[in-house]
Amino acid sequence: MLRLLDNKDSVPFSHFKLHPDLLKGVKDLGFVKPTPIQTDAIPPAVEGRDLLACAMTGSGKTAAFLLPILSALIAKPRGMTRALVLTPTRELAAQILEDLNAIAVHTPLNAAAVFGGVGMGPQEHAFRSGVDVIIATPGRLLDHFRAPYARLNGLEFLVLDEADRMLDMGFLPDIRRVLRHLPKRRQTLFFSATMPGPIAELSREMLHNPVTINIERRSAPATGITQAVYPVAQALKAPLLLAMLGGEVSDALVFTRTKHRADRLARYLGERKVAVERIHGNRSQAQRTAALAGFKSGRYKVLVATDIAARGIDVTALGHVINFDVPGVAEDYIHRVGRTARAELTGSAFTLVSPEEEGSLRDIERAIGKRLPRVTIPDFDYESRPASLEVPHAQRIAEIRARKAEERQRARVNAERRAAALRRAPGPGGRQAGQAAGPSGGPPGQGRGPGHGRKPWDRRK
Ligand code: AMP
Repeated sequence: MLRLLDNKDSVPFSHFKLHPDLLKGVKDLGFVKPTPIQTDAIPPAVEGRDLLACAMTGSGKTAAFLLPILSALIAKPRGMTRALVLTPTRELAAQILEDLNAIAVHTPLNAAAVFGGVGMGPQEHAFRSGVDVIIATPGRLLDHFRAPYARLNGLEFLVLDEADRMLDMGFLPDIRRVLRHLPKRRQTLFFSATMPGPIAELSREMLHNPVTINIERRSAPATGITQAVYPVAQALKAPLLLAMLGGEVSDALVFTRTKHRADRLARYLGERKVAVERIHGNRSQAQRTAALAGFKSGRYKVLVATDIAARGIDVTALGHVINFDVPGVAEDYIHRVGRTARAELTGSAFTLVSPEEEGSLRDIERAIGKRLPRVTIPDFDYESRPASLEVPHAQRIAEIRARKAEERQRARVNAERRAAALRRAPGPGGRQAGQAAGPSGGPPGQGRGPGHGRKPWDRRK
C-alpha cells in the first residue's frame, strides 16, 4: 500500500514567489508540501541563481526546476523559446512534458518534446512557432540545429537533467556541441543523481557561482522503500518471479540485464497468463509508448524493461520494482529503486540474486551502506529443475545459421527474378525492368537528384 510520508520541516508552496496560476496547478496535482529538493531549489532558482543539485529520480526534481522557470516565463511574450531542458532519454523527455503540461494547465505556456524515433515535422513546427519550453534529447536536438529554423538565440533558461546518466550513455560530447548553439548569458539548473569526475568538470564549465544543493549527501535509494533480496538459482528465477506475482506483488516493473532476457521473460510470463509488456532499445517508439501507457492504465500488470529504456518512467502509484538480474553497477540499483517510492511514497524493491551474482550484490550493499534482508518464499520449490531462460549456445548458433541460410536463399530468388525481368524487358537499357524491380530497386523518382524537394536535414518520411 502506498502512502505519502510527512514532510515535517517544509514550508508550504505558497511561501515561494511563484505565479498564482502555477500554485493552482500544483494544488490540482495534489502536492500538499514541497519535497526537500523543491524546498532547497525553488527559492534560489526564483532569484535567478544557477543550481548544482544532487537529486535522484523520485525526489520531485522535475517540479523543482519547472516551477521557477515557468513562473518567470509567464510574464514574458509568447512566440520565443526561452527554456531548454536536456534529458538523456525519450521516455524522460515525454514524462517531463507531461509534468509540465499538468503544472502549467492554468497558464498560457506551451512546450514540446524533441526526441528521436518520431517524425521531425511536428518538432520543426515547435521550433518555428517558438514554443516556450523545449524538452530534448541531445542527438535529435543536434539534428535540428543543422537547419536554419532551429535557432535558440532567445534562450534564457537551460536545465541539464540526469547529467550522470548522460555520461553513462556517452552523451557528454553531444552536450558540449549543444552548448555551442546556446547563448552564454542564461540561467542554468544542473541536476545529477551522482557527481562523478567528468560531471563535476562539466558543471564547472556550465555554471556561474551556483547554489549547491545536497551535494555532499551520498546517493542512496529514496526513503520509504522496503528492499529485499531473493536468493535463487539462475534457472529458477522465472518461476520464482511467477510465484511472487501470485502473492503480494500484483503489479511490477521488472528489470532484466539484456533485451534478449526481457523478451524471453515476457514470453514466459505471457504464456502463463500474466498481462505483460516489454520496453527496450529494439522496440519502436510507438511500441514503447503503448507499453508504458498500458502499464500505467493497469492493462498490463508487469512491464519488463532494460535499464536505459526505462529511464524516466514515472508510474505514480508504482508499488514494486523487481530486479530480475542484479544490476552490475550500484548506481543503476539506486536509480531503479528510486523509481518506486517516488517523492516519498512508499514501495518495495526486490532483487533476485543467483549465486554468481553475490559479488555484485555485495558492491551494492557497500554503496548503500546496509545489508539487505534475504527472503525465501515458503511454498516455492527451490530444488526443481526447469529450463533456463537462456537458449543454449549451440541452439542459438544453429538458429542464426538457419536465418542466414534463409536470407541467402531469398537473395538468390530475388536476383533470379530480376534477371528474368531484364531478359523479358523490351528495347535497350531495360528501363521497364528497373521500375519493376520491387523493394530492392526502389520506386522510381526517389533518387537524390536535384528537385526532390528535401533539405539535407529533413528526415521526414
Ligand atoms: P521526479 O520529479 O521524477 O523526481 O518525480 C516526482 C514524482 O513525485 C512525480 O510523480 C510527481 O508527480 C510527484 N511529486 C513531485 N512533487 C511532489 C510533491 N511536492 N508532493 C507530492 N508528490 C510530488
